[in-house]
Amino acid sequence: MSRLSKRESSAQLMSQIESNISCPNCKSSMRVDVAQLTCEKGHSFDIAKQGYVNLLTRAVKTNYNKELFDSRRKLITESVFFAPLHQKLTELIIEVQGSSRLFILDAGSGEGSHLYKIHHGLLDYTPEKITAAGIDIAKEGILKAAKYYGGQNWFVADLANIPFQKQTVNIILNILSPANYDEFTRVLEKDGLAIKVVPQKDYLIQLREFNDDRPKHDTLYSNEPTVELFYQHFKDVEKIDLQYDVLLDEEHLDLLLHMTPLTWNWSDEKTNNFKASGIRSISVDFDVLIGYKKL
Ligand SMILES: [Zn+2]
Repeated sequence: MSRLSKRESSAQLMSQIESNISCPNCKSSMRVDVAQLTCEKGHSFDIAKQGYVNLLTRAVKTNYNKELFDSRRKLITESVFFAPLHQKLTELIIEVQGSSRLFILDAGSGEGSHLYKIHHGLLDYTPEKITAAGIDIAKEGILKAAKYYGGQNWFVADLANIPFQKQTVNIILNILSPANYDEFTRVLEKDGLAIKVVPQKDYLIQLREFNDDRPKHDTLYSNEPTVELFYQHFKDVEKIDLQYDVLLDEEHLDLLLHMTPLTWNWSDEKTNNFKASGIRSISVDFDVLIGYKKL
C-alpha cells in the first residue's frame, strides 16, 4: 500500500491553488510539480520535505526563533487564550462568504495555528469550498506550520512581495502582524475583504503594568495610527471591540511570557517575580478591523 509523502500531499494541495501563485522573481504564473514550483521563465523553488515552499528571493533574519514559535503554538492550541478571537473571525467569514468558493490568505501567519483554527472552524461549516494559505517571512514559523498542519498551504514569503497573482485572494487575515496594504490591495479580488486584528490598550495590561514603573497613563498603548492606516486603505470599514479575560494555569502563563515581545527585555528575576505575583487572569483586548477593497 502506498502512502503519500508529506511533500507529495503538499504538492497535491498546492496544485489546487496553482493558478493563484505567482513567481516572487518575475510575477509570472507557476506550475506545481511533485517536488517543486517552476515559473514560465524557469525560476524554480523546491517543496521542502516538511511540505512548505521557501519563496524568499534573499536571506532574511528575524527575531523569531524555534522556541518562541513552540510557545506560541502550544498557547494557541492547548489553551483557550485565543479561542474567542478564532470564534469571532470564523463567524465573520461565514457571514460574508455566501455560497461561493473562498481562498483565504493569512499574511504574517507565524507558525500557522491561528489560520489552522479558523480554517478548521470554517470547514466544519462548509467543507471543501475553502482553501487556505499562510505566508510568513520567518522560516522557522512556516516550518512548524507545515509540520503540524497538513490541510493548509505554507510559504516562506515577504509581505512586500506576496507570491500570488493580482485579484486571486478573497480574504486576507492579518493577525497581530505588520501589514503591506499595497500588496494586500493587489492580491485581493474585486470584492475582497481584509480582516486585521490589532491589540487595544488593555491587551496584556497585567504584563504592561508589571513591565513599567511609570504611572499607568504613560504606559497606555495606543493603536490609533494603525487603525487610521487601515481606514485609509479600505472602504466600508467596521471595527469590532473584542475584550475578555483568560485565567491561565502556570504552564500556559509561562508560554505567554515566552511568546510576547513585551517580556523580551525582562530579566529572569523579573519573570520569576511575575510568576510569583499570583497574577493568573490576563486581559485580552483587540480591535478587529474589517474592510473591503477599494475599487
Ligand atoms: Zn519567475
